[in-house]
Amino acid sequence: MKTLTGKELATAIKAQAQAEAAAGPQPRLAVVVATADEASLWYVRSIAKAAAGVGIACDVVDLGPEAAPEQIGEMLARLSADSSVHGVLLQTPLPAGASAQELAAAIDPRKDVDGANPLSLGRLAAGLPAFPPATAAAVMALLDHHEVELLGRRAVVVGRSTVVGKPLAHLLLDRHATVTVCHSRTRDLASVTAEADVLVAAAGRAGLIGAGHVAPGAVVIDVGTNPTDDGGLTGDVDFDAVAEVAGALTPVPGGVGPVTTALLLRHTARAANLP
Ligand code: NAP
Repeated sequence: MKTLTGKELATAIKAQAQAEAAAGPQPRLAVVVATADEASLWYVRSIAKAAAGVGIACDVVDLGPEAAPEQIGEMLARLSADSSVHGVLLQTPLPAGASAQELAAAIDPRKDVDGANPLSLGRLAAGLPAFPPATAAAVMALLDHHEVELLGRRAVVVGRSTVVGKPLAHLLLDRHATVTVCHSRTRDLASVTAEADVLVAAAGRAGLIGAGHVAPGAVVIDVGTNPTDDGGLTGDVDFDAVAEVAGALTPVPGGVGPVTTALLLRHTARAANLP
């Protein structure tokens, strides 16, 4: 079994982002935050640190956990109109009553570096240029980096969110995989996932995918990041059990996560260089 780590790929993508950032005006990423959720704030700090490391300025605009949806929408519109800002990211979770999808419609698609505006997803589905959500793009980048063949192969995605599952299904289709998307109402999940040559787990359920869900030799990508009692992270895949069956498997942490952050930075550098 091959462990598909993301660290080396993330380093290479960050080097590309750094080179692209140096080629034009200094890229600026604005991250809008309206939460007190510690894991989310930790993630935002890690983005800011990684951005600084590749020459991208990062402004964290913290509106506080009590922010009204209108306030968040106005801030996204203002940042979209600000010519010194090249990338706009709306961090979740949001205050009760605020819809990330509704609000992300205020992000200019040219600055939508995490593919959150419904227009970006529509363009992606239509095969038009758009920034895909960084996590979905990270899955594709990992598959390519590890030279996983997709053409004509059966790909199964567990999860249908607009952040991961749906955009990923489009990206896999574009690469000529035969794609099945599973969700919480899928009957007999294991019988569907066991058909996959490439299985992507993005359900946010620790240990959902066990050895019985995986065909011998399949490539398994674990997008899940579930907090553990000891303050760590675990994936949706039971790593030790699935490692006995799969041909290749990503670890959590250290698989999709670092590639996601690196791609967010590369998208920002590209947004700054758009004509
Ligand atoms: P989400 O919006 O909660 O969506 C979860 C999806 O999984 C839903 O479509 C849900 O089905 C499906 N699902 C839930 N339980 C299931 C079950 N028992 N069997 C089959 N499908 C099930 O989550 P998300 O934002 O897509 O994130 C998914 C996971 O990826 C989370 O752990 C998140 O933390 C992680 N994530 C990681 C990164 C990274 O960079 N590594 C980035 C983003 C997200 P229904 O639609 O029927 O409810």
